Amino acid sequence: MSEKPVIDIELKAPKGDWRDPRVDFRKGTFSYASLPKDLTALGLPNPRKWQPADLDWQLPPDWQRILLDGMKERLEKYRSFRLFMDVCVRCGACADKCHFYLGSGDPKNMPFARAELVRSIYRRYFTLSGRLFGSLAGGRELTEDVVKEWFYYFYQCTECRRCSVYCPFGIDTAEITMIVRELLSLIGVSTHWIMEPAAKSYQVGNHLGIPPHAFKDSLEFACDELRDITGLDIEIPINRKGAEVLFVMPSADYFATPHYYTLLGYMMLFHEIGLDFTVSAYASEGGNFGMFHSNDLMKRMNAKIYDEARRLGVKWILGGECGHMWRVLHQYMDTMNGPADFLEMPVSPITGTRFENAASTKMVHICEFTADLIHQGKIKLDPSRNDQYVVTYHDSCNPSRGMGLLEEPRYVLKNACNNFHEMPASTIREYTFCCGSGAGLGNDENMEMRLRGGFPRANAVRHVREEHGVNLLTCICAIDKATLPTLMDYWVPGVQVAGVHEMLGNALVMTGEKERVTNLRGEPLTKEAADA
Ligand code: SF4
Ligand code: SF4
Repeated sequence: MSEKPVIDIELKAPKGDWRDPRVDFRKGTFSYASLPKDLTALGLPNPRKWQPADLDWQLPPDWQRILLDGMKERLEKYRSFRLFMDVCVRCGACADKCHFYLGSGDPKNMPFARAELVRSIYRRYFTLSGRLFGSLAGGRELTEDVVKEWFYYFYQCTECRRCSVYCPFGIDTAEITMIVRELLSLIGVSTHWIMEPAAKSYQVGNHLGIPPHAFKDSLEFACDELRDITGLDIEIPINRKGAEVLFVMPSADYFATPHYYTLLGYMMLFHEIGLDFTVSAYASEGGNFGMFHSNDLMKRMNAKIYDEARRLGVKWILGGECGHMWRVLHQYMDTMNGPADFLEMPVSPITGTRFENAASTKMVHICEFTADLIHQGKIKLDPSRNDQYVVTYHDSCNPSRGMGLLEEPRYVLKNACNNFHEMPASTIREYTFCCGSGAGLGNDENMEMRLRGGFPRANAVRHVREEHGVNLLTCICAIDKATLPTLMDYWVPGVQVAGVHEMLGNALVMTGEKERVTNLRGEPLTKEAADA
């Protein structure tokens, strides 16, 4: 008797013409539209009530001119965009590298085919052959159906860049996706799950819209919990002028689980080493949903980090566990919001290490900071406190492929845990598979596509679960921590999700601590007690 396949993926070539742009907005495979209140709050064009399944998207009367003018402007402004439109040779090396193609079997989710959806418009309107010969030269007319097709497929790309690792020409489909989403934003086409957090972040300072008093309450609650766990009075300074370091984290760290346990881990570490730091009630969000909409919105969202560093008079900035936050900080912040010449070259006050890799941004990743402390023997760890876990590590796409942070998280984990196993080499480090929910796709209405897109990642976790009994998937991304639990529950039940600094906090032997009986989740600390 044949087993029922765990996922239904049709890999046969489709019968229709690929140039037909019509899309079936099937429930579970797309995100809802942005609401007028959020576009209005951000001063963005064409606020109105609409949904992707509507026949009439209520586009502005001159939508075609807006899109073509926007494309012309970006072709002139970004040499990479023009290059990516011109150089693809359709070698197919990227074809089976996208998790959305692997999980859905939809050929338009092959990276080169996704790019072709906009390349065909480029050819038709911006090349001589396309203007003269139209479809014979690979061009397509820009119709409302093409706009709908763009929305569907460019919001089925998590901007993870896995495809670019395999492309011999370095074509980065994530950048193409970012530009197409930016074009769509010019005519008011965007998604609710991105625009609502962006509007809240713009108005209040963080994606969840948590006002300063609730931010303070949440951190005080964390201090109370830390007192119960360690017996120590641990403080989290807020808006303290003159501190040496500003610490910025994603808002999920202080308002969601399992992120919250990562926050506890950071704060235990800072207390133990006596770090002179502060957090900010305004720069209370490192994450940046603006990045999933447009360069302009990304810049507006990110400005508060340097503004707060300047206002508080710190010397440098330390950043927590987040994915796209680090893509923005590492790749764009210096030129976008800088120069940060009012800050100093980051130097660890504990080890004296100069973080020359952060010379321009003046911002250091928490894993770099902690790995240095461990390497220099400045903290004491008892990895047996994590013995109830058999751990693997998911390289979150942005810190791994976006900034090359491959060794430091592993170094921290291997010092904080006794049982660590890597997933297969083709699925980690720069080849890592995306969670399937990044770049603003992690909403519930898009659940089928999330689970399909996350399938290759989950499959690699299942491999180490079967081989080694892995029961904990660690990562350093707030979106991963929010969405991987659902993915694990569906594909690999029995695997929990945690941050690297949760493992560090469990293992950290603190000066003057009481005998620890629970881990940061309030579960029995020892394996024997957990098994009992
Ligand atoms: S690997 Fe690069 S050149 Fe080859 S088809 Fe993909 S995008 Fe085009
Ligand atoms: S960037 Fe990631 S999601 Fe987008 S096409 Fe490439 S592999 Fe797929």
